[in-house]
Amino acid sequence: MKQTFKTLTLVLLALGTLCLGMTSAQAADKKVKLKVKPYPMDTCIVSGEKLGSMGDPVVFAEGDQEIAICCAGCKKDFLKDKKASLAKIDAAAKKVKPYPLTTCIVSGEKLEDDQAVGAVADGREYMFCCKSCLKDFKKDTAKFSKKLDEETKK
Ligand SMILES: [Zn+2]
Ligand SMILES: [Zn+2]
Repeated sequence: MKQTFKTLTLVLLALGTLCLGMTSAQAADKKVKLKVKPYPMDTCIVSGEKLGSMGDPVVFAEGDQEIAICCAGCKKDFLKDKKASLAKIDAAAKKVKPYPLTTCIVSGEKLEDDQAVGAVADGREYMFCCKSCLKDFKKDTAKFSKKLDEETKK
């Protein structure tokens, strides 16, 4: 039992060190920290094509930034000029309306730093407690867009 507790403490300590920049005096309504920033556009960063117009987009992470491109062929071009693409993504992200809640839009669960996942739809950011909620969101974005409207009005 004691051993388990010790292991748990070590794990918690390790987690703590991972969360650099986090202080113990966190405000309750502080913006939730995402491990990966969601891709802010609905077009391919390389070709400018609407995502999904050429089949499922290719999604991957570059550092802490999620990248979505229309097809595998664009990945090569992306890698050739990563810096320019990342700068464009940064600029687009600044125009996105930040997610106003501290709970998951799908489940209503409280969002945890580094565990929450995000998505951008129609210029608005959304956050979810887990990937499965993100999947549900993608199935019916209109429904959750309405839900977010209602939650924001409260
Ligand atoms: Zn493409
Ligand atoms: Zn969830």
